[in-house]
Amino acid sequence: TPTIGVLALQGDVREHLIALAAADAVARPVRRPEELADVDALVIPGGESTTMSKLAVIFGLLEPLRERIREGMPVYGTCAGMIMLANKILDGRDDQETVGGIDMIVRRNAFGRQNESFEAAVDVKGINDGPVEGVFIRAPWVESVGGAVDVLAVHDGHTVAVRQGNVLATSFHPELTGDHRMHALFVDSVAKTLGT
Ligand code: GLN
Repeated sequence: TPTIGVLALQGDVREHLIALAAADAVARPVRRPEELADVDALVIPGGESTTMSKLAVIFGLLEPLRERIREGMPVYGTCAGMIMLANKILDGRDDQETVGGIDMIVRRNAFGRQNESFEAAVDVKGINDGPVEGVFIRAPWVESVGGAVDVLAVHDGHTVAVRQGNVLATSFHPELTGDHRMHALFVDSVAKTLGT
């Protein structure tokens, strides 16, 4: 059984811990570099990416995160987590850092303001038993991707789920629904990487 951390600086950490446990992973919060060193894979939750970026710097996690991703640690980011995994962002704050890991340009708040948040059924490549319920809250979209990136889902003409190698990202929040198939997809890919 893979041990999967949830980056617990800010955001909907608890919901991810619950979804990962439901998808048969051992899940625990990660706040310190020593805790990061101890997990097989990581989820970066939804929340507020500028705050998360600041806290990652303060907690000394930015470089360790970059290094583990370079070494091939599987990561799944939702919403603000997707922004953190983008090699480049648009409409970010000037001092906003990302961890990177996916060769994509992500536009923050692309789907509009808080009161324009919405839900939609989204077909995801690799999930074949019906669309997932996409919860979009001030969500980003993927503006463009490099050649190594696999587009997993498109909503309204905009890319909302991608994978590059072991790194997965969605604009939407499966952790806020009772549907744990996205987390199961991730946990399965982690198990394969570990060879278990
Ligand atoms: N708009 C937020 C940001 O820029 C992301 C919103 C979310 O994670 N629900 O970080």
